[in-house]
Amino acid sequence: MPRPVTVADARLGVNQVPHLLGARLLTVSKVESIGPQMARVHLTGEPRDRVGAIPFLPWAAGDHVKLVIPTEDGEVVIPTVVNERANWEETVGSTRAYTIRTVDQITGTLVIDGVLHDHGPAGSWFINAKEGDRVGVMGPRGSHVYPPGYRHYILIGDETALPALGRWLDEPGLNAAVTVITVAEDADAYPFPAPELADVDAHHLVLPSGPERGPALAAELSSTLDASATPESVFVFAAGEAVMLKDVRRALKTAGHPRHAQHIDGYWRAGTVALDHHALEVDED
Ligand SMILES: Cc1cc2nc3c(=O)[nH]c(=O)nc-3n(C[C@H](O)[C@H](O)[C@H](O)COP(=O)(O)OP(=O)(O)OC[C@H]3O[C@@H](n4cnc5c(N)ncnc54)[C@H](O)[C@@H]3O)c2cc1C
Repeated sequence: MPRPVTVADARLGVNQVPHLLGARLLTVSKVESIGPQMARVHLTGEPRDRVGAIPFLPWAAGDHVKLVIPTEDGEVVIPTVVNERANWEETVGSTRAYTIRTVDQITGTLVIDGVLHDHGPAGSWFINAKEGDRVGVMGPRGSHVYPPGYRHYILIGDETALPALGRWLDEPGLNAAVTVITVAEDADAYPFPAPELADVDAHHLVLPSGPERGPALAAELSSTLDASATPESVFVFAAGEAVMLKDVRRALKTAGHPRHAQHIDGYWRAGTVALDHHALEVDED
């Protein structure tokens, strides 16, 4: 788990809430194309799986599960959990982190949005996902609950973070100025919801994956911070490719932005298989 954030006033920082570890083998009930490079996969299970009981907290847009992606032969085995510990050695398949986009507690449906790419097992699984496919779902282990009282939120992300940003914008209590700064290869990359109360200003950069992205996002972030009407009350969430985020971290540092008013999470790193974002968070701090 990431290190807890310690702030003088807990309402201003990110709070962590642990959950009992769930292990479920679920079935794809529907696949939708929601963008040129994104599939939305609906997952359901047997009544005993209690999919509707998967923790789905408000203000916890970064919450994620670990998908256990079947092997090329379609084989998938989830680890047993004893005393809150998963026996990962039993796993058959590859485990990768994915944002919990929604949990429908009535129908017992978990929704995950996955980028379509053929560089790894998870990206390829999303390309080929169809009704009836099986996939393992572990977690979530805990929630990062973001502080709701800020007057300006800056949300930054590449393709992999668009589901988390979508979840931010779904938040019924989001009653603030919101600047959404995204980067993707396509102009119409993701169907963002329109929040009822928030005043949203969206900046979408169309850039291929690569070294141009970090400086471009950092420049947008710096000018947004400079222009904020409430500079004393700005919270920044940023997620995506880890090297790209170094520029974002640098821009925040240069601006003297308080550590408790930011959450930056590397979701993948070009050239790295199954990036451990927890280890990264500590290294980069
Ligand atoms: C907390 C968290 C939440 C996340 N939420 C989502 C989500 O909701 N949707 C989503 O799509 N992803 C999400 N990700 C990112 C996802 O876990 C990674 O992209 C993961 O590496 C994909 O696994 P893979 O098996 O396809 O590739 P891996 O086997 O991990 O990597 C193989 C190669 O593919 C490259 N690669 C990995 N991801 C991408 C990519 N997106 N585009 C191009 N190349 C890539 C790697 O750099 C590596 O070279 C999240 C990650 C974290 C940590």
